[in-house]
Amino acid sequence: MDEPASLTALARKLLVAESVVRKELEHVRRSLAAKGLELQVSKPVCPRCGEVKLRRITNLSKCPRCKGWIEKPKYRIVAKD
Ligand SMILES: [Zn+2]
Repeated sequence: MDEPASLTALARKLLVAESVVRKELEHVRRSLAAKGLELQVSKPVCPRCGEVKLRRITNLSKCPRCKGWIEKPKYRIVAKD
């Protein structure tokens, strides 16, 4: 539906504060689901190591391998199948 967006862009789109989006991500996910939409979060990617596994994705996550910063996750809203 849309190009991947940063949390900031997503917040703007949903007309809420970025901090609210971050805290209420699960809530947002559920309310989108009620509208037949789905919130997708990009996989965490380290600029040096590539895709990495993280338990939680935040805007400031560190790579478990090289301890470098992970790129900010991208969020997108897509129509559910
Ligand atoms: Zn790394």
